[in-house]
Amino acid sequence: MTIHDAVPHWIGGSEHRGTGDRRGDVFNPATGEVVRTVGFADAADVDAAVAAAKRALPGWRATTPLRRSRILQAYLTLLRENEREMAAVASQEHGKTLDDALGSVRRGIEVAEFACGIPHLLKGEHAGVGTGINAYSLRQPVGVCVGITPFNFPVMVPMWMFPMAIACGNTFVLKPSEKVPTCSVMLARLFAQAGLPDGVLNVVHGDKTAVDALLEHPDVAAVSFVGSTPIARSIYETCARNGKRVQALGGAKNHAVVMPDADLDFTTEALIGAAFGSAGERCMAISVAVAVGDVADALVERLATRARALKTGPGIEPGIDMGPLITGAHRDKVSGYVDAGEREGAALVVDGRTVEVSGGERGFFVGPTLFDKVDPSMSIYRDEIFGPVLSVVRVETLEAAIALINGNAFANGTAIFTGSGAAAQLFEETVEVGMVGINVPIPVPMAFFSFGGWKNSLFGDLHVHGTEGIKFYTRTKAVTARWRVGNATAPTLVMPTLG
Ligand code: NAD
Repeated sequence: MTIHDAVPHWIGGSEHRGTGDRRGDVFNPATGEVVRTVGFADAADVDAAVAAAKRALPGWRATTPLRRSRILQAYLTLLRENEREMAAVASQEHGKTLDDALGSVRRGIEVAEFACGIPHLLKGEHAGVGTGINAYSLRQPVGVCVGITPFNFPVMVPMWMFPMAIACGNTFVLKPSEKVPTCSVMLARLFAQAGLPDGVLNVVHGDKTAVDALLEHPDVAAVSFVGSTPIARSIYETCARNGKRVQALGGAKNHAVVMPDADLDFTTEALIGAAFGSAGERCMAISVAVAVGDVADALVERLATRARALKTGPGIEPGIDMGPLITGAHRDKVSGYVDAGEREGAALVVDGRTVEVSGGERGFFVGPTLFDKVDPSMSIYRDEIFGPVLSVVRVETLEAAIALINGNAFANGTAIFTGSGAAAQLFEETVEVGMVGINVPIPVPMAFFSFGGWKNSLFGDLHVHGTEGIKFYTRTKAVTARWRVGNATAPTLVMPTLG
């Protein structure tokens, strides 16, 4: 597949340069160099994409679920053939290691795999509700759907959305992060090669201007958003005001509770991977370890040893554990939080601000950073840092750990490390968080379950993919039918009761 110097929009089944005159630079964050540029859509470009999706809608919604599934199956083959190429681009534009990028591409492909079961997934309910009267429900597409996605998973997060929406009979306009635009066009082109009719999937690039045009567009029926909490909240409010169905997934501050009976070697490895994988730029990254009872000293010692041994460098190179952050501005923001943590009195055990990367002097690197004795009043505890910074908070009991987590405004994921079934059971029942791991650090649900947080991590009712994704991308229609009219008592003016 060709990767262009200037990333195009994808509208109506082909590349478009667009009419918008604003552009953005796409960086390789490991070198600080601009690798390509991307044109930002203006309202006319957005209009063209929505119009293409609207034109394609009648034909696509009339395509039977089995035929849609067959196109998805052809798409799956192409996705698998091209997964390494997409992972390489994701690694280049995002900075994460190649293996990590490949893993996330595969998690995205699994959603398309799940969506192949759409003939079964769209089956409604049926009941005999009266003499000669049957009731049943239909799940029908909602119309033109929009996806707005963040920089940290250039393939996986878009794939949480569009394969599900399209399998349900909708058409789609994707507005990916302008920081990592290339993979979206690769995904759209492969879907076209698999036989997807023109206009069913469209991609427009850009920033707030493009998003606002999509949110205001009268022909857009539903919006899926994944990104930071302030934007998620505002997308939710705007869509509600404009009468659009919306699910808006926001930021996170994920805690892992470490009980005194946890296997410390296993737990240390799990926490290192969950805190520093993808340089902490995952919405399911663990950024707080809650050490219960007397486990803290031994845990911090082990974490420090492992964090110091990690190799930070360009994610595309072999042997690297952790890549750079997405931009220079974000690197400065993360370093600023480390400054603040020191100022506010946390114990800085490993300092990533001083990391040296040979050949990566102009890259956006911060090394693994570990704080101990963090207090919940500190900004490093309260805010989502979205970088490789792990804070250890010490508490006396499991109940105190759960109260701490339940007092946090974010509620995306959490985990407990313990050998006790009773502790795990209490945790799973009482913690107020959307996704829970038991001796599993990053409990990202598989495609056939649904992904989503609670509280400030999700605005809306339904999680993405799995059966909740089917509900989001369909409207339910309930039918009550009688055919043997000759034998039936004629309806009267009285409110009918069946039986
Ligand atoms: P972001 O909120 O800055 O951007 C997300 C999307 O919104 C992008 O497409 C961007 O172009 C657009 N956008 C940015 N500012 C906008 C504005 N003012 N108005 C309208 N649209 C705007 O997020 P990001 O920095 O790309 O991604 C990181 C964030 O995403 C983190 O907070 C992370 O926790 C979150 N995230 C959450 C999940 C989840 O499942 N809950 C998954 C991945 C990432």
